[in-house]
Amino acid sequence: MKPARQLLAALLLAWAGGASATPVAPPDPAAEDLWLAGVQRRAFDDPAAMLAELQRRWPAHAEPGQPREAPWLLARGRVLLAAGALDAADAVATQLMALSGGAERGWLLRALAQERAGKSGSALAARALDGLNARCPVGEEARAVRELGCDFRSAWEALNLIQRDQLNQGEFIGAESNTRRSLALARAGGDKHLAVLSMGTLAIVLQSQDLGDAARAQLRAAEAESQGDPILGAHVRHAQAVVERRAGDGAAARSALEAALVLAEQADAPHMAAVLRSNLVDAYMHQGQLKEALAVGQRAMPVLQRFGDLYFERLLHHNLAVAYIKLRQFDIARQQLGRIQESSADSTGLAQRGRELRELGDTWAEAGQYKEALAAYAAERELNARANERNRAAALEDLRRKYDSVAKQRDLDLLARDGQLKDQQLSNHRLAQQVGIALGALLLLSLALIGVTLLRMRRAQAQLKVNQNLLRAQSERDPLTHLSNRRHFLAVMEQRRQQADAGPEGFHGALMMVDIDHFKNVNDWHGHAAGDAVIVEVARRIRAAVRDTDLVVRWGGEEFLVFSPELPGTDLAQMADRILRGIGGEPIMTGEGPLRITASIGFASFPLGGSFGSCLRLQWEQAVNWADMVLYKAKAEGRNRGVGIQAVDAGDGDTLAHIQQDFDAACRNGQVKLNLLPGPA
Ligand code: GH3
Ligand code: MG
Ligand code: MG
Repeated sequence: MKPARQLLAALLLAWAGGASATPVAPPDPAAEDLWLAGVQRRAFDDPAAMLAELQRRWPAHAEPGQPREAPWLLARGRVLLAAGALDAADAVATQLMALSGGAERGWLLRALAQERAGKSGSALAARALDGLNARCPVGEEARAVRELGCDFRSAWEALNLIQRDQLNQGEFIGAESNTRRSLALARAGGDKHLAVLSMGTLAIVLQSQDLGDAARAQLRAAEAESQGDPILGAHVRHAQAVVERRAGDGAAARSALEAALVLAEQADAPHMAAVLRSNLVDAYMHQGQLKEALAVGQRAMPVLQRFGDLYFERLLHHNLAVAYIKLRQFDIARQQLGRIQESSADSTGLAQRGRELRELGDTWAEAGQYKEALAAYAAERELNARANERNRAAALEDLRRKYDSVAKQRDLDLLARDGQLKDQQLSNHRLAQQVGIALGALLLLSLALIGVTLLRMRRAQAQLKVNQNLLRAQSERDPLTHLSNRRHFLAVMEQRRQQADAGPEGFHGALMMVDIDHFKNVNDWHGHAAGDAVIVEVARRIRAAVRDTDLVVRWGGEEFLVFSPELPGTDLAQMADRILRGIGGEPIMTGEGPLRITASIGFASFPLGGSFGSCLRLQWEQAVNWADMVLYKAKAEGRNRGVGIQAVDAGDGDTLAHIQQDFDAACRNGQVKLNLLPGPA
């Protein structure tokens, strides 16, 4: 039975015991975690002892259903891995997955198992890290460990797995960032061992980016911290060897590995020593020390097999094969190579396997074994083709995913844009409707406003006309008698003159000037009010004595003018008579009692009848003067009478003017014939 199987059997027997159901509080989880970490670390070189140690110390609070079951299970799984008991470790992983809050540790254990089997554990590690990140937020490592209960060792392990794969793939930037994060986690957790390991890795990552000074600075710092711990010292020297090798200094790399090996031997770490020896094979070969290479390789091989370390076992087989070819021991070389083909080449190991095949091909060729060289090259080509095909498929898949997401995004964009367009159209339509409605409303409103305005204007105009008429009426009316005033008469005359401009007639019509006799006495004897009352009544009586078409004007204080547009001379005398009797026929009632009032009238009809039957054309002002003249005649004759002009003996305007200048003389010498009307007795 292989050693690993023996360990497994012992393990299964050890944990056949029952489980306690009563919750048991752990003494100090942090201290316990530290102890468990030490056990897992030591298990790398002494898994059997550590399995026994775990079994011996397995506490009640780590039994199934107890709070500390998960960390203890993980420790057991890792010790089983160190023993090469991959199936047993996988069973523990299954157990962890079933625990609430244990899934991350389950994934991590599986990732470690993958790596142990010579495959890449980074995908599973990433899965574990995803879950662990909930309590270990990136960039907040100190707070995560202090306050959030971050399982920093598991997170560190996951990061380390991912980082190793990135380093193999040449993804140095990602590797550096993950290594720095793992260093921060180790510092936050106060785990010097993990911190020094991270610093060593960081040095390798930095050297890979040709940052030699930074890499060496990291190494110096790591070495300083590793003082007093040979295992840690061995790790730092191992890292240093990788750095030197990558820097191109094969001798320094070999020296570092030798120093590391001394420390590992000193720490009684056989597994680690075997790993270092398998690396030394390569270092010695590159230095042309083939015998030394074979010697260390032959020492390392059984140890690696005992630990079930397939990864380093395969690496060692390859290194030994190359060495045997160089030593022209082709059969043994082929045996070594046959062992390699037994172990499964994992997909992520393709690149490394490709490099190995190239090295083999070159070595076979150097040894003159062209058939084998060609086979190696062909295998490499096939591997490259597979890798390329896989890469191409992955790239295509990646492209397709990107294209899908781009296409989907474009569809979404188009949809969104279409939606936006429709929204826009809709809102445009709505806007157009609103604008239309608004315009319609505005139009209606405008029309209504215009209508209202027009109506108001018309009303205003009408009102204005009424007001104007009223104003005109007021301005052209005598307020006391309500007869037309002198202004109105002038307006009428002007209007008639303008109409007459078309013809040669001049003033046409009859004029009658009426003046109350001795009116001053009425005021003086009966008062002004009685005088007003007399004026009002006289006006009424004149109005009553004339026709509606005649214009009665209050010409002055107690003077009235009557204008008859179409009245022959005989009718005019009758009208003057009616007025005389109307005024003087009946006494006028006043507040002071009835008063007898008489009036004098001068009247004439125009054009004045000339002596030769001709018509003497006069302007209305001249006509009024003629009426005034005969009124004066009536006053002069003794009042309460009417005097009219019957005929004038004048052939032209000059004669008329002459008559006017001395009217009395003209009357005496018969140039003017008068019509005399006596007033009422
Ligand atoms: P005659 O017969 O010569 O016409 O004498 P008279 O007194 O009528 O003539 P006069 O023209 O000298 O007097 C007119 C008076 O009429 C003078 C004025 O005080 C008076 N009078 C004028 N207007 C009014 C008025 O509206 N009311 C009153 N009560 N008196 C008026
Ligand atoms: Mg007078
Ligand atoms: Mg008078």
